[in-house]
Amino acid sequence: MESSRPMRRTKIVATVGPASASEAKLDALITAGVNVFRLNFSHGDANTHRRTAETIRQCAAGKNEHVAILADLQGPKIRIGRFRNGPITLAPGQDFTLDTALDDDAGDSSQVGISYPPLPDDCQPGDILLLNDGLLELTVKAINGTRVQCIVDVGGELSDHKGVNRKGGGLSARALTDKDLADIQTAADMEVDFLALSFPRDAGDVEEARRRYRDAGGQGGIVAKIERAEAVADDATLDAIIEASDGVMVARGDLAVEIGDAELVGVQKHIIRRARALNRFVITATQMMESMIHSPQPTRAEVSDVANAVLDGTDAVMLSAETAVGEYPVETVQAMDRIILGAERTWQERRTDRPLNDRTNNIDEVIAMAAMQAANRLDNVTAIIAMTESGNTPRLMSRLRSGMPIYAFTPYPSSQRRVAILRGVRAIPFDSHTIASDEVNRRAVAMLEDMGVVKNGDRVLITKGNYNDAHGGTNTLKIVEVGGNIQ
Ligand code: PGA
Ligand code: MN
Repeated sequence: MESSRPMRRTKIVATVGPASASEAKLDALITAGVNVFRLNFSHGDANTHRRTAETIRQCAAGKNEHVAILADLQGPKIRIGRFRNGPITLAPGQDFTLDTALDDDAGDSSQVGISYPPLPDDCQPGDILLLNDGLLELTVKAINGTRVQCIVDVGGELSDHKGVNRKGGGLSARALTDKDLADIQTAADMEVDFLALSFPRDAGDVEEARRRYRDAGGQGGIVAKIERAEAVADDATLDAIIEASDGVMVARGDLAVEIGDAELVGVQKHIIRRARALNRFVITATQMMESMIHSPQPTRAEVSDVANAVLDGTDAVMLSAETAVGEYPVETVQAMDRIILGAERTWQERRTDRPLNDRTNNIDEVIAMAAMQAANRLDNVTAIIAMTESGNTPRLMSRLRSGMPIYAFTPYPSSQRRVAILRGVRAIPFDSHTIASDEVNRRAVAMLEDMGVVKNGDRVLITKGNYNDAHGGTNTLKIVEVGGNIQ
């Protein structure tokens, strides 16, 4: 366990791919600070993902780290097929054709397959198609049977399975494809900690995914990726999607293409604020450290982007191609860790948007809020201990902005992994049921002392439920002094 380093509050999600799937790389990435690994079901087959998950768990267990796994469904994203001889480069002015009848692996420098059969009917000459998160731009020239013939306006490198959007949105398919349904079963069997849902249009899409996932035996949390113009069209739709989920992702790649890049920054801040207010976690994703795919140093703009997401209050920042296929996956995580710590050092907002007279019937929530209020106001408080079964109380605590470290003391590995995504929360394996009730608090504080995170004279806040009621909700808040007579 770490001790001398300051605790980084904001978490790092890293996508696994060919550049990072080996045991040595996964091990180095955990050491560098990855909290959650994302398995992207848009790429790779089920067996590869299963093997990767096993390797991640072995590496994490070897280091006593609580690293979660997030399985990200492809969803109805429209993607091109593969290129026979590796990535191609498109030049402005050249012709390029998307052909729904072409074999998936038969792409070359003049054409490529595409996974969306209705494309020739849904497109018209003059439409602008955006590839690879909007980096490449094509204009539709003509439709010829299954062939959508385009001219390249903005060129660049194009590799296998990159996404396709139409400017302004509107190309859409149902939220769960047949592949997603099969992948939901795979994710459930793999016992991942989180399942991310791509392109939900509304809360109904999220509820359906949750139902299918639970029917398949899945226990993980559901993450709704906010990446459609429809999802942020009005406050009611966005709030309902957030409430139907355990957490959301600001999926800036597709979202920016659909709503326009000028709107994106304000919408990111709004989604983060709403997720926190509704007691859900939030991940900020895509192109955060994009230049590090090929460079050992981030740009100033990337440093600002990561730091600003931290200041916005995001729970986690996510890496995609940087760690999946980049040349510097470990260096990227190290840079992100450094930037986050810097942003957290300069300023910590300590506030809640919740008015004091905001009423609730939820005792756990009231205790969690009371603990954070006390921690922020009382002198010499250096840590909060939440004795938790499910991780629910630390989640509620971490919705309040605070510089205070929250230690989730829980005996369950699934809960230890589940809190890995939460800002400011760190899991400590601890089974209070095996300890005499008047010894529990003293033993817990002693663990933090051994870790070097609290010292004599510090105050520690402890929350817990009824000791004899294993699944009882949190209903107690206690304030103790390190070195004092703790009971
Ligand atoms: P993706 O999702 O990487 O699966 O496209 C994230 C995004 O759209 O930003
Ligand atoms: Mn996306």
